[in-house]
Amino acid sequence: MHEAPIIGDTLALDLANTHFAVRGKPVEGLPNKEALERWLMSMDASQDLPPVSVVDSACLASFIELRDAIRMVARALIVGGGEIGDAVDRINDFARANHMNPRLVMEHTGLVSRFESDAVGVRQLLAEFAWDAIDLFGTERKKLLRSCPAPDCPLFFTKDHSRRKWCQPSCANRVRAARAYRKHRRTAVPEAH
Ligand SMILES: [Zn+2]
Repeated sequence: MHEAPIIGDTLALDLANTHFAVRGKPVEGLPNKEALERWLMSMDASQDLPPVSVVDSACLASFIELRDAIRMVARALIVGGGEIGDAVDRINDFARANHMNPRLVMEHTGLVSRFESDAVGVRQLLAEFAWDAIDLFGTERKKLLRSCPAPDCPLFFTKDHSRRKWCQPSCANRVRAARAYRKHRRTAVPEAH
């Protein structure tokens, strides 16, 4: 059982990256609600998300719907073209799903902004992911959006410093190792006469 990689660049892309690959084969990182619960817990550890209430199968379907919409817009922004009207509508729908008012909340880490809502936490969470997608795709941040150039890696990341080329160090290592292997083979094969 492989867990989806959490790169930690941005909420929207971490959700997009729950569609990932292991040895070149696509993997669904959210195959059931238990997997979504585990993923949200891992995300909470790195991103300080609001507490999650009940995760049910409707919630899983919503997360996957939003994830696929984010992937579609990200891909269109990177490679150009593509009909993204429906995907944009989806993201907007999730963003406006709740009528929420921001408020300051004192937590153990200090003051944080949270949104007051009478809806369950999961819908609030979905809105936070959708808002991050809106901010990422609709502002200058989109210039940093990249898809990983490593072979068979479907992950997205933001190029947050000029020398960053890969989604994660593991992809850089994989590409370097493959390059070294090819070089070794070229030099190891004796020339035919
Ligand atoms: Zn990668």
